[in-house]
Amino acid sequence: MTPSSPITALPSVGPSRAALFARLGVFTVGGLIEHYPRDYDDRSNVRKIAGLIPGARNTMRGAAAAAPELFRANGRAVVRLVIADDTGALEIVWFNQPYLCKQLVKNKEYIFTGKVIENNFARGGQGQARGRQCSYKMENPEFECLDGHELLSGGRIVPIYPSTAGLGQKLLRKFIKAALDALRDEYPENLPRGVLSEYGLRPKPEAVKNIHFPPSPESFYAARRRLVFEELFLTQTALFKLKGRLKKESRVVIGRLEAEKLLAALPYELTDSQGGALADIYADFRSGLVMNRLIQGDVGSGKTAVAMAAAYTVISNGYQAALMAPTEVLARQHFQTVSGIFGSLGIECVLLVGSLSAAEKKRARAAAGSGAARMIIGTHALIQEAAEYDNLGLVITDEQHRFGVDQRFSLSGKGEQAPHAAVMTATPIPRTLALILYGDLDISVMRGKPPGRAVIETYAVDGSYRPRIYAFLRKNFDEGRQAYIICPAIESEDAGGGNAAVKDYAERLRAELPGYVLAPLHGKMRPAEKQAVMDGFANGEIHVLVSTTVIEVGIDVPNATVMVIENADRFGLAQLHQLRGRVGRGKERSYCILISDAGTEAAKIKLGAMRRTSDGFELSELDLKTRGPGDFFGVAQHGLPEFKIADLARDLDILAQAQEAAGKALGTGEFDGEEAIDRLISGGRGKGKGMAL
Ligand code: ADP
Ligand code: MG
Repeated sequence: MTPSSPITALPSVGPSRAALFARLGVFTVGGLIEHYPRDYDDRSNVRKIAGLIPGARNTMRGAAAAAPELFRANGRAVVRLVIADDTGALEIVWFNQPYLCKQLVKNKEYIFTGKVIENNFARGGQGQARGRQCSYKMENPEFECLDGHELLSGGRIVPIYPSTAGLGQKLLRKFIKAALDALRDEYPENLPRGVLSEYGLRPKPEAVKNIHFPPSPESFYAARRRLVFEELFLTQTALFKLKGRLKKESRVVIGRLEAEKLLAALPYELTDSQGGALADIYADFRSGLVMNRLIQGDVGSGKTAVAMAAAYTVISNGYQAALMAPTEVLARQHFQTVSGIFGSLGIECVLLVGSLSAAEKKRARAAAGSGAARMIIGTHALIQEAAEYDNLGLVITDEQHRFGVDQRFSLSGKGEQAPHAAVMTATPIPRTLALILYGDLDISVMRGKPPGRAVIETYAVDGSYRPRIYAFLRKNFDEGRQAYIICPAIESEDAGGGNAAVKDYAERLRAELPGYVLAPLHGKMRPAEKQAVMDGFANGEIHVLVSTTVIEVGIDVPNATVMVIENADRFGLAQLHQLRGRVGRGKERSYCILISDAGTEAAKIKLGAMRRTSDGFELSELDLKTRGPGDFFGVAQHGLPEFKIADLARDLDILAQAQEAAGKALGTGEFDGEEAIDRLISGGRGKGKGMAL
């Protein structure tokens, strides 16, 4: 038997059990071994009957003093058994499991785990009438027969697995033990020897055994560390290798590396961090290899200008450039900014979004295809779908943190014709995490904001401040400023609940802000409706946008100076930072008011951090530590790899070590990682298992 043998290779696993295993995502013997426990129950402390602790779960062993009895009480089948050891006797009852009668045999020894309770004779408990009387009883315990085989469900630290009807804990333990025995030490060691010794990692066969049936807590920790390390090491080496594989010679030759005219047309000078990112891009162009770069910029750091400069450079070398945004609102905003400036330089831009009429779309595609349009701006979907370009040299993806490596891989065009690619994300993430999410890309970091920005004053208050907040808003509106108010989409039973909540909230707000223009904005609106609201807000016709988090990413209206966030404690730090980044985009002093009535310690820490710092990278470190990477991104499809055992929130230290080891092992050639790449790229297809792409 090998890890890739089908699950039916195990004794007592036929087609019907295989179907149950399939429900757990298990198809092979190796897959079963990787069906790791979700928890453990320490049943290693086996007590004598006299030493049982009433009211608590206990594990005890003893022999059946008599054959079990079966009777009915209150309409239920009851199996009763008396167990004895040299210190006393204990009554055990099971409800609704009459078949147990056949499994339990007089004088045989068993080990039981369950809650021990006092036997209430006074009220005529079942113990009274029948057989031997015991002061205590155990109800519905798990048990296992002591017939010489290795104990799996008692007398040790016991694994608890994700299970399914028909494949409960006891069976899973049994099959996993059988798989471990069948494979014995034939588990391939897939970490290099040098890495094992340098990082003090246990050998694979031992780790695999001890993750399921650890003889001690220490052996569990050592096993888990080894397996987490392995998983992260393999993913990381695969990403690093992929990066190398994507680095091939580019057909797009950028000989003239300058964007003077564009920079002169911008109403500002580039900041150092903008200049740095552009320099990184130029270095990629100069290398002659295909660029695959992530530009990780803090909110408001000015990524659009970097994108424009890169696009301008590529265009003035005779190629086309494309800028893709995740939403139509953002695409239109970019189109407005970019076409204004590019137009003044005689560069034609074209917009490709879903709400264009068929004729408009056709025209836009024709312009992109013929090469009349040099700059193409649109949503991801349309730009990818159009696919017909004259001579595309650069694709920039804005605000992307939702794609996995597989999508990036397919976008980069696999073939020889790959254009240069830059991905811009406004979610600052810690470096260790960036490497595992984007290890196939080169990374530029943009910290800080353009000069001359007033700081954003951040306040954390409770609901009693609302009247003052409304007065403050009115004052700002009267001074010509605008505001955002965020109310979280409240989960409700009907699907439209979130949006109804926004409308409701906006209605109530109208009463508080008479004479000012309020507009709700929510996820269920059609793109055209959203656009009309956004336009009204950008033109200053709307004083306040009342929204769920649909505005969180990318929107740039410098005249908006107040951000009010209701139930602020419900958002993650990264998201709060994103939201706050919608204000403070102009020269005016800006305010972020976080309303929360939670009063919990976690809420205090979170809101306190928001008040203390405006550095997105610092906040993201904290967010990752406190909430874990899933929530951290605030979106369902975050493109995070789905690990079998690693948990990035908890295993950041191991991640850092695995990354260091991956870099070294690839550098020395000790590890080639080809296999790991295949797993990484193919894992996402089909079953929806493996890497979440
Ligand atoms: P983000 O990085 O969040 O995408 P944007 O590109 O939208 O940021 O830029 C934020 C704002 O800063 C815009 O209004 C833009 O015009 C302005 N801006 C960008 N670069 C500079 C600069 N070097 N100096 C002054 N303002 C700038
Ligand atoms: Mg942006």
